[in-house]
Amino acid sequence: MAKMEFKSESKRLLDLMINSIYTHKEIFLREIISNASDAIDKLCFIALTDDKLNMTRSDFKIEIKPDKENRTLTVTDNGIGMDRDDLENNLGTIASSGSYKFKQDMEEKQDDIDIIGQFGVGFYSAFMVAKQITVITKKYGSDTAYKWQSSGADGYTIDECERDGIGTDIIMVMKDNTEDETYDEFCEQYRLQQLVKRYSDYIRYPIVMEMQRSRVKEETKDSDKPEYEDYTETETLNSMVPIWQRPKKDVTQEEYDKFYSDKFMTMDKPIKTIVTSVEGVVTYKALLFIPSSTPYDYYTKEYKKGLQLYSSGVLITDSCEELVPEHFRFVKGVVDTADLSLNISREMLQHDRHLLTIAQNLEKKVQRELTSMLKSDRESYEKFFAAFGRQLKYGVVADYGIHKDELQDLLLFYSSTEKKPVTLAEYVERMKDDQKFIYFATGENTAAIDALPQTELLRSKGYEILYCTEDVDEFTLQSLMQYKEKRFCSATNDDLGIEADEKTDDDKKDSAALLTFVKETLGDSVSEVTASKKLVSHPVCLTAKGGISFEMEKYFNSVQPDSGMKAERVLELNMGHKAVKTMEALIETDIEKAKKYARVLYSQALLIAGLPLENPSEYTDLVCELI
Ligand code: ADP
Repeated sequence: MAKMEFKSESKRLLDLMINSIYTHKEIFLREIISNASDAIDKLCFIALTDDKLNMTRSDFKIEIKPDKENRTLTVTDNGIGMDRDDLENNLGTIASSGSYKFKQDMEEKQDDIDIIGQFGVGFYSAFMVAKQITVITKKYGSDTAYKWQSSGADGYTIDECERDGIGTDIIMVMKDNTEDETYDEFCEQYRLQQLVKRYSDYIRYPIVMEMQRSRVKEETKDSDKPEYEDYTETETLNSMVPIWQRPKKDVTQEEYDKFYSDKFMTMDKPIKTIVTSVEGVVTYKALLFIPSSTPYDYYTKEYKKGLQLYSSGVLITDSCEELVPEHFRFVKGVVDTADLSLNISREMLQHDRHLLTIAQNLEKKVQRELTSMLKSDRESYEKFFAAFGRQLKYGVVADYGIHKDELQDLLLFYSSTEKKPVTLAEYVERMKDDQKFIYFATGENTAAIDALPQTELLRSKGYEILYCTEDVDEFTLQSLMQYKEKRFCSATNDDLGIEADEKTDDDKKDSAALLTFVKETLGDSVSEVTASKKLVSHPVCLTAKGGISFEMEKYFNSVQPDSGMKAERVLELNMGHKAVKTMEALIETDIEKAKKYARVLYSQALLIAGLPLENPSEYTDLVCELI
């Protein structure tokens, strides 16, 4: 038969495949196998009603046959097959919608190779590795078999031929090896086995290959010099039914755990396994895992979020970022949906409506599962929170706080009264009748916050305080602003919303003189000196005025030492404290000594706030002198 030309758009795609410099050429096998599986699906469906076919589901299979000597690879299926029209329409042109979309995509983008990168492009991808392809096929209901043959862009031929039963053979003659590329690997049984496992493990029909093996000859088994013989064995390469397709009740937690550690190569067990199956506007199955510990690279750029995405059991991408929101980026797992074409490009994937819906559903699902873990298995939840709580807090702060409603009830903070992590809801539930705010205090660790003098008044009133020990904590509470209409208030704030005992005018006058004295002594080191309302047993403390807290100052200076970020310092004096009273008396009798007192007390306030002393040796000299 005369050579026929490919339709022009197919030609372009073909050119692209033949000249592809794409490094993952191996995906061609996934494409050919998927086509075979689709063809079997079609015949399998017909077999249900056509008794003459005399085939049942277990008769169907896909065979892979490498031939090293002739450098060919043959993929055979006993699916529906093709007649002359099919060959012309299906292999001579890009007819299918998936391929057409792909073509349109390419026309918009010049960066062609990149598109092949992530996703296959069907039958034509075989031209990335083969210099000639022969298709021998016989269609269900037809007596004639056909041979389609092409060596690439110059066209194809279709001739009648012989074939025993219904089905299709795709025979690919590998390209010649070049200096940079070897194509021999696609005739190696172990390489093929590996590729099937990687890309087509969950194809629902057996993918079989005759494996060449060698064994000790039976009769030489006990001799000193055992002899070997070659033999062949047919092996099914794929596991067929993916664990997420099996009904949840038939799978044990051990099996899920094993799948998790094999698939994601981790040693830990998931703290939560989420199995979900949805049918409706979108149809998908998902198997998600929440790890029990933080991966070592979790908070680095190396860590890639994303779920594995399958389309009816065929791997599309190892890591589909669009499927998990940033604040749940610790979730690992697999999503399988039939609503997605294999030929989808990465750009289209990002905007795919089905995928967006799946992502939204999964986000809600994870949120619900975490909420229920918090309610019913507090111990596990606390373990989870220790590993990923920081991520949830980042989530509250990120994107101008739009996720805060979703995340605020998942947060835990250490409580001064309960001595363990508590939720905001639990805090509000316990609030005293006269309590205006949700109080928090910031510091390096719980012990340091326990010792903060600023919290004394709150404690004496029996108010609960949430401890912020992570750098992101304070930002989180600032983003939330309030919870159940209760505002957050830092224990170091000037106004704690507590009514202080009224002072007489005389008291005020006295204290004004002392405050002025201390302010003049300390100069610009502090912006203000005040009489404290919150100190009980400590003589002094520092509070920050304005929007920047001490913890923010420390944080910004640790990430960017020359940021010059400085919180405004207010020195609070406990007017009733002995040390302060002594200083006051000294103003009259020994003003130089009174100044030393002022400087020592200020340094102590700095130390308690965890801030560096401006002049440590001056401080130690002063202390020695006063002792
Ligand atoms: P797609 O699979 O996206 O439709 P392909 O280029 O891979 O695009 O295949 C084009 C068409 O060729 C298929 O839709 C199918 O109709 C036909 N085809 C390919 N391989 C086979 C096969 N092994 N058996 C029967 N038909 C096939």
